Formats: sequence, structure tokens, C-alpha cells
Amino acid sequence: MEEIKIWGARIHNLKNINLTIPKRGLVAITGISGSGKSSLAFDILFEEGKNQYLRSIGILAGLDNEDRFNTMEGIGPTVAVRQNTIRLSNPRSTVGTKTGILNQLALIYASDGKALDENSEHLSPGFFLYTTADGMCLSCQGRGFYYDINLKQLIPDKTTSLLEVYKSLQVTDGFLRILKKKYGMYFETPFWELPEDIKGQVVYGTYDNGKQSYCLERILRNAYEKGEDVEEVYEEKICTACQGRGSAKKRKKYSLAES
Ligand SMILES: [Zn+2]
Repeated sequence: MEEIKIWGARIHNLKNINLTIPKRGLVAITGISGSGKSSLAFDILFEEGKNQYLRSIGILAGLDNEDRFNTMEGIGPTVAVRQNTIRLSNPRSTVGTKTGILNQLALIYASDGKALDENSEHLSPGFFLYTTADGMCLSCQGRGFYYDINLKQLIPDKTTSLLEVYKSLQVTDGFLRILKKKYGMYFETPFWELPEDIKGQVVYGTYDNGKQSYCLERILRNAYEKGEDVEEVYEEKICTACQGRGSAKKRKKYSLAES
């Protein structure tokens, strides 16, 4: 079937519309704000494609179509990539976790696998799921990557002094007084000429009884939590502990039994 056909789409702002969407092409849905573009894409197309696929592999999923549309033809499995993925979604989500295939794979590994280390207990599916405490890399919590401050992006000018860095981040007078006690002697020093250990403290803070001191990382995190747009000064770095796999090291000890 070369088309997806939908009859009676009516969730949210959609007023009982019928439409045909060609397959094997890039199709854009356009319209004024509130016209139901996202409802059509996410609540109807994506939801129904996902639900049909999950039902086909024996997983009961989602709602019936009753409240969303009358009938649909030609839909295949769907994957949705939404806006603001960094903020809203779980970064461990993949096609494998969303569809449940990862769990099935873990069950197969756990039942047919053989522990190479004879002293270890029986295999649990959790060992093979990077989304569980047993199976995930603890350094990156299973993400395979982490976000780090991109200092070159944040402070591009080699002559910007430490004080100017704080002022550009709108550090309040109160915090500036605290910082002055610690780093006052470096306030006029260009950030990029700070001694390495001081630079590290300025960026990531010091820890006292597990409490992080006021630092650039905290300033940016506070700004992020207030909804300010700081994403561009972060860069994605591959986790060195798991080389980006997201899984715990111990998984290496196991392999599928030869049969
Ligand atoms: Zn990792």
C-alpha cells in the first residue's frame, strides 16, 4: 500500500477530517497554530502506528481509536522524534525500549546465555538492560553520553577576565561576595589563563560534605532549570566509562551459549 488513509480524524482541534498521506516521501504537515498539526502527527499517526505494531508482537498497548478517528489504512510501525528532546524525554529511550524489543532481547540473553565466569549467579534479564540498575553504566546512567559545558562556546574571548565571566552570567552581588573570598585574587585574570586547578574549581566547584560550591556549572544548571536557553553552551560527550554503550561493564562477562 503506497498511502496511509485516515477517516474521521477528530481528536482535540481536528474536526472529523479525512486525508490521504503518500508513503516513501518526506511529508510536512503545515497550518496555523492550533489547527491540529501535532494532534494529527503524534496522537493519531504515531500512536496508531505504535499501537498496531505493539499489538502485532503481543503487547497490549494504548487506547482504542474510538475517540481519535474512525478508521485508518496503510500505517506501519512509527517512531516519533519530538521537539525539545533534551528537556522532555528520557534520553535512554530508543526504538528498542519504546517497542519492548529490548526487553525481549534481554529475556533471550538471560535464558539462553551462559555465564563465562563460573562463580557468578544465574543470569537475570536486568544484566542485559541498560535501563536497569543491574545493566546500566553508572557513570552516565545508561545514556552512553553526558552533557558537559562547552567552555570555548561560553567564553570565546581569550582576554575575558574571571570577573567579566561572572558578570556576563549575571551573578548576583551576594554570590559575587562569596566568590570574591575564594577567587578574589584571580578576578582580573583572564579565565583562560587561570591555573588548571583553579579553573576546574571555578567551573565545577568544590565539594564540602557532598555539597557543591557555587560554580559555573551550578549557575548554568540554575538557568536551565528556570527555563533559560543554555543548551548551546553544552556539548554532548561520549561516556568514557562505557564507550557510549550505556551498559555496565560486567555484561562483557557473558556471551550467548553456543548451540
Ligand atoms: Zn557510560
